[in-house]
Amino acid sequence: MEPVRLGLVGIGKIARDQHFPAIAGNDRLNLVATASRHGRLDGVDGYHDIAEMVSATALDAVSLCTPPDGRYEQALIAIEAGVHVMLEKPPAVTLSHVEALVAAARKAGVSLFATWHSREAAGVAPARAWLADKRIDAVRIDWKEDIRRWHPGQEWILGPGGFGVFDPGINALSIATEILPRELFVESASMDVPEGRASPLAASILMRCGSAEVRAEFDFLQTGPQTWSIEVDTDAGTLRLTQGGSVIQLPGEAEQTAPDEEYARLYDRFADLVAERAIDVDLRPLRLVADAFLIADRRVTEAFAF
Ligand code: NAP
Repeated sequence: MEPVRLGLVGIGKIARDQHFPAIAGNDRLNLVATASRHGRLDGVDGYHDIAEMVSATALDAVSLCTPPDGRYEQALIAIEAGVHVMLEKPPAVTLSHVEALVAAARKAGVSLFATWHSREAAGVAPARAWLADKRIDAVRIDWKEDIRRWHPGQEWILGPGGFGVFDPGINALSIATEILPRELFVESASMDVPEGRASPLAASILMRCGSAEVRAEFDFLQTGPQTWSIEVDTDAGTLRLTQGGSVIQLPGEAEQTAPDEEYARLYDRFADLVAERAIDVDLRPLRLVADAFLIADRRVTEAFAF
């Protein structure tokens, strides 16, 4: 089969760090064009925006690496042109937008893949398998990183639809919804939004999974050690996922890890979906964030500058 002719949209940090190498390493994909107002990749035709790219190039698929606000409009342009679409996380800024994209993709007969890269971390599949027959007693999620280190100058993250600390925090929720054997429900939440900004720098969510409490702490001002961990207490002991899900420790056993293949796996899956013209969209992580925003007790905290 001929490789999928792919366009990459939004040449920023994640496009360069992860998407470009993963696409280059996949012989079922051929990167033929990019669309970005300022970014270019050497040796690849560059366009200003997706509309220009789609009308000027014969493309089978696009992968969107832009910020979530604006992605709905970009995805719709591709879908209506009969082009398959892969979305970075979070897939859009509202649930309605994602649902509308699913309907549009069905109508056009194209693939739509809402990716959750953290679900591809090495410890996630084994955690899901181990937890499947356990009684869940309690869950603790700690997702704490330094916004200045990982998102330098990304003003959009604290704007409306930028998700704030949920930009990384939704990764934890994508893992939790994947590994826990029952659905999660938000019971209460609090958020710290810096003065003059729209999105939170810190948040706490209390959720429930069956009778178990799930406590999640998100912090974007964590200096020193960075923490991306999920601990699950069960009737058979505590499972620990650390380093964003890439390290797993089962009770009484040594830590296990494997090389990072998150984006290689996402693109392999996308090539499969394109071949089948299939849709893979799981809204649960976005729904939990939306529920937290609906119910949250908001505090205005001191102004923040990058
Ligand atoms: P970024 O460095 O700011 O890059 C996003 C690119 O999108 C920009 O370079 C910009 O390129 C383009 N863009 C289009 N519309 C934009 C707008 N209204 N505001 C700002 N940029 C706009 O962001 P990123 O870190 O790559 O994140 C992009 C997406 O990837 C987010 O959804 C994020 O959650 C996800 N992600 C990020 C990471 C990470 O570690 N950074 C990890 C996993 C996933 P032009 O100016 O050239 O158009």
